[in-house]
Amino acid sequence: MFKDNGYERVEFDRQSDVYVINTCTVTNTGDKKSRQVIRRAVRKNPDAVICVTGCYAQTSPGEIMEIPGVDVIVGTQNRKKMIDYIEEHQQTREPINGVSNIMKNRVFEEMDVPEFTDRTRASLKIQEGCNNFCTFCIIPWSRGLLRSRDPENVINQAQNLVDAGFKEIVLTGIHTAGYGEDMNDYNFAKLLQELETKVDGLKRIRISSIEASQITDEVIDVLDKSEKIVRHLHIPLQAGSDSVLNRMRRKYSTAFYKQKIAKIRQALPGLAITSDVIVGFPGETEEEFMETFHFVKEIGYSELHVFPFSRRTGTPAARMQDQVDDDIKHERVNRMIELSNQLAKEYASHYEEEVLEVIPEDHVKEAGEHTLEGYTDNYLKVRFTGSKELIGKIVRVKITRSGYPYNEGTFVRVMDDTANGKIEVPS
Ligand code: SF4
Repeated sequence: MFKDNGYERVEFDRQSDVYVINTCTVTNTGDKKSRQVIRRAVRKNPDAVICVTGCYAQTSPGEIMEIPGVDVIVGTQNRKKMIDYIEEHQQTREPINGVSNIMKNRVFEEMDVPEFTDRTRASLKIQEGCNNFCTFCIIPWSRGLLRSRDPENVINQAQNLVDAGFKEIVLTGIHTAGYGEDMNDYNFAKLLQELETKVDGLKRIRISSIEASQITDEVIDVLDKSEKIVRHLHIPLQAGSDSVLNRMRRKYSTAFYKQKIAKIRQALPGLAITSDVIVGFPGETEEEFMETFHFVKEIGYSELHVFPFSRRTGTPAARMQDQVDDDIKHERVNRMIELSNQLAKEYASHYEEEVLEVIPEDHVKEAGEHTLEGYTDNYLKVRFTGSKELIGKIVRVKITRSGYPYNEGTFVRVMDDTANGKIEVPS
């Protein structure tokens, strides 16, 4: 939008006429860091327009308005009005608070993102908001209730991204696979099917996250038949103990989760499953922690994101008794990370000597060697020798040494139709 209105984007450490600070509120630290960045922008150029947006702006506009130097606040909706507000402020020099009640919003705010600085993977947001209200999470208050993007717009945006050169699209959202729950005759499985068949030239579809409850038989069937949806799903667990899940107000039991995983593995053997786990939730006993530990081991994830429970003001969990001591929390986090590393190595070891498709994302030149780094469809990070021209292309790589955080491989050939598989590794 700024580009279309004649603005030029500069790095944050340069002087600017307008600063837009996109804030986070998922933890109390997110708020604090956001405030620090706002103050830094004000100091950099006290005459500039300081516009604060994002989740912290949505939940605490009053708190932000009190920071001297803040001129415009826009939350997580009506972002299209941002430039008008900024220009209005330039005329009137009056503060503008453009935040309104997000809970009343039932319509997805259409905003196309035609390009990304990351050249290989494009994110495509398909829905907004969440109706779950887990006890540790502030997100429904900052993003509002679940609403889905119009399927036609999703397909058009996907086509535009592919036409701009992206091979892989990551479907994102707050409760991504809740897509369609606010529609009548349409759902997430149908959207996946349409993306596969209607977007010309799309090679890979990745789902950023899917809740166990949303892995319906219809979704499993689509995944099974698909040639584009990657062999990787991120299925948040948060806890592998029923009593903790209950206190978190998550909408599944360990038995339900396990049964879903079994079903999906039957259809898609070799699938990489990653997850999020929160350690040290209020009242978590050593026994409950060990229940989660054993559950994680039993599922056999290919990687975990482990978070120590963070007390987010305004959520029920922040007010719960029996908060876990920081030392205990961190000791448990370390044990869980160690387990995750072990599981990741184990998963990767199954692919040693196999030839996999990688889309290189980064290129480094070390001691005269050109090294590329990218991900396989099943989300193994692979490093191999190859030239910069291969970035963003689909290439076949043989895994010579598996490991974690990355695997080593050797280049086999390019899969791109454009290159006819003829690019060779530079010596
Ligand atoms: S489902 Fe996810 S976004 Fe929704 S409340 Fe729970 S943790 Fe937050």
